[in-house]
Amino acid sequence: MARVALSALFAVAIIIAATLTVMAWQRRRESAGFTAIAALAGGATWWSLCTTVPLFSHDRTLVMVANSLLYPGVFLVVAGWWATARALTNRFWRLDRRSLLLLSIEPALCTIAILTNPWHHLFIDHLRPTVIDGAWAAVFGPLFWLHTIYSYVLVLYSAVSIFRTYVRQTGRYRGYLVAVLAILPAVLINVGGILAGGHIIDVTACGFALSAPTMYWVTHRSTPSLAPVVHREVFQNMMDPVVVLGPNGNLVEANPAATALLARLGVPAADLGRLLADVPTRFGGDHVLRDVRGSGLDFSVRVSLLLGPRGEYAGAILVAHDITEQLRVNEQLRAQLTTIEALRASLAEQAARDYLTGLYNRRHLMDELSKALDRGTGFTFVLLDIDFFKQINDRHGHNAGDDVLVHLATRLAGSLRPGDVAARYGGEEFALLLHGVAGAEAAAWMDGVRAAVAAEPIDVDGVPIAVSFSAGVADSAGHQCPIALIADADQALYSAKANGRNRVEPASGRGRLAPAG
Ligand code: GH3
Ligand code: MG
Ligand code: MG
Repeated sequence: MARVALSALFAVAIIIAATLTVMAWQRRRESAGFTAIAALAGGATWWSLCTTVPLFSHDRTLVMVANSLLYPGVFLVVAGWWATARALTNRFWRLDRRSLLLLSIEPALCTIAILTNPWHHLFIDHLRPTVIDGAWAAVFGPLFWLHTIYSYVLVLYSAVSIFRTYVRQTGRYRGYLVAVLAILPAVLINVGGILAGGHIIDVTACGFALSAPTMYWVTHRSTPSLAPVVHREVFQNMMDPVVVLGPNGNLVEANPAATALLARLGVPAADLGRLLADVPTRFGGDHVLRDVRGSGLDFSVRVSLLLGPRGEYAGAILVAHDITEQLRVNEQLRAQLTTIEALRASLAEQAARDYLTGLYNRRHLMDELSKALDRGTGFTFVLLDIDFFKQINDRHGHNAGDDVLVHLATRLAGSLRPGDVAARYGGEEFALLLHGVAGAEAAAWMDGVRAAVAAEPIDVDGVPIAVSFSAGVADSAGHQCPIALIADADQALYSAKANGRNRVEPASGRGRLAPAG
């Protein structure tokens, strides 16, 4: 009766495990987890198959052979479970050569022990009939126990690693816990079987076979949308360096981009604090680091604060962004703007200047006159004209005439106070705008200049050329319009010419000044 029940149990377990093996194997490319499940379920299938032999045969040799042949199934279950745990906790996990080699050591030793068992009986001591229809069961030796301890250490380690991942996650990742729980029945059955000391047939294989669907389900659920894993993927693959700092500024984690950058800058992880000394990591926001460690690289570092459950500072996430190129372009643009501004100012200046003498031109003079009249602060306007300039041209040539114009312009400009304006009004006519002086005082000052110019011939290429000018002086008082003011001065200038030249004449009714001597 017990034999029939057991046979039925094993049949169900084998069908389920074999089906799961095929299903998981078909999805092996989706995630390493499925390959691991295939190994687990495949191992459980084989192990179960071998375990059923004593239920059908009392041939001691056959039972012994079956008992020896079941171990590859056990190895696959243990390694499959370990690999499933790895795949569940890290989506990118792949079985590498080193792990495979390490995993194979114990099975290899175990296999040697089993193959040589007939000579030492250290793995299986002997067979003895169980209470189940006298079906043979093994009584184990010390090497078997070593193997069992090893297997349990691996199984427990894997369970703990899944559990820890679960604890770190929340909510929807509780499937991990289910996975951990799924293995429990198998373990309990196995422990029970071991404690029964070979009195019954070991049904551990059934336990593992029946846990396979749950493991498959968890892997299936976690494969496509495992958010923490996706977060991890983002973190790992971000082009921008990201570091996570602890509460004391200690480095908790750095993504590969950050690690590569630190290596490039020659900064050991322990020196990170010094590198970030200029970044207030206890305040969120953006900070710019120029020429980091003399590398010529500039970074903007965005600090996001991490807060603990009670709102206390728990660290910071720093995302660096290389802005070297951006700053270089900005600086170029700034330099270009400066150049453009200088060109503009230079053009404006050129537009305001007279080409020959370098004095302001008539247009600029008109602007200055309007502004000064608008301000309402008193000033004097002088219009002056070189006497008999045509004769100078005729006698000394047009170039010498130009030189005379430049000389006189320089002289006039040099005699002014800061803020006063000298302009070339037309051919050999000049205009002066004298701030803060008026009436007789201005006329007297102007007459001083006239006398000085008349007294000192201008030297042009070694030839002294006597030059004099006549001037009309007009006060701005009572004027709103530049044109009227100029007309006033022009009228006075006309008088100066009419009255004999080389003299300064004030605008009508303000007295007149004649050449001294
Ligand atoms: P007046 O005392 O009545 O002012 O006699 P003037 O000869 O100075 O006056 P007029 O208006 O007859 O002649 C002015 C001359 O100035 C005529 C013109 O050829 C000359 N002139 C005007 N602009 C320039 C210039 O830029 N360079 C030179 N070399 N001569 C100029
Ligand atoms: Mg003239
Ligand atoms: Mg003249």
